Amino acid sequence: TGRLAGKIALVTGAGSGLGRASALRFAAEGAAVAVVDLDPTAAESVTTEITTAGGHALPVTANVSSDADSRRMIAETLAEFDRLDIVFANAGINGAGNAADTTEYEWDRVIAINLKGVWLTSKYALPHMIERRTGSIINQASMGGLIGLPGIFPYTAAKGGVIAMTKQMAVTYGPDNVRVNAICPGTIPTPLVYRSRVDRGAAAPNTDQAVLDADAAARFPLRRLGSPDDLAATALFLASDEANWITGGIYTVDGGRSAF
Ligand code: NAD
Repeated sequence: TGRLAGKIALVTGAGSGLGRASALRFAAEGAAVAVVDLDPTAAESVTTEITTAGGHALPVTANVSSDADSRRMIAETLAEFDRLDIVFANAGINGAGNAADTTEYEWDRVIAINLKGVWLTSKYALPHMIERRTGSIINQASMGGLIGLPGIFPYTAAKGGVIAMTKQMAVTYGPDNVRVNAICPGTIPTPLVYRSRVDRGAAAPNTDQAVLDADAAARFPLRRLGSPDDLAATALFLASDEANWITGGIYTVDGGRSAF
């Protein structure tokens, strides 16, 4: 039972933060979940959380920026569950700098994971979804892909690319009944947000991040930062049959921040 009863889902970056919350929510709504992460311990631990709660999950260690790993993670999922209905390309990293000072290394690293990795996540799922004429792909973008936020230049470029890629994929695979949507989260406190503040010089490594969270909340019309569950609720909706006529959509989940 549940809103994803009988479905098979794959979530990348599912070992932490928004991916973890979404994997848990998908499983609670009846989906069997491939819990993909670069960090094997994190993938194992979220898998255990799901199975302990009575759900079905498979831990998969993969780097989404590798074509070979992306191919293998889909193969392992199909070998275990026979089919795949939902792909949430969520894995991502922060990145620092502006156009005049970021490095080529930083640009390449962020683009490889946050842009190429989102493409590769669905590359090997698409033929299967097209053949079955069903599928929901959700790409994790960011409010940083919609508005100019200082200090995260390569990240901004990658997330803007994810938004454009989502629309192109939606148009291409709509006739195959494969839906492709993107989510643009605002600030949701996770290890990524804390690392980003330190890397941008907005916080020292020993700063009390809760104080910065409270300051940041003032910039959001709803006057609070998001929770991983706020994000998981939208991912769940887009994954489910309730969104059967929705594709090419760019969904802000940001407390109104990008409406400024
Ligand atoms: P997080 O750091 O808590 O979790 C990210 C997970 O992805 C980690 O478990 C990490 O091991 C994994 N990962 C990193 N590189 C990987 C790779 N190459 N292959 C596979 N897994 C990899 O971060 P989060 O805040 O949950 O972010 C998840 C996604 O949401 C990212 O794409 C991020 O850009 C996006 N996002 C987050 C926020 C926010 O405020 N937290 C806002 C907008 C967008």
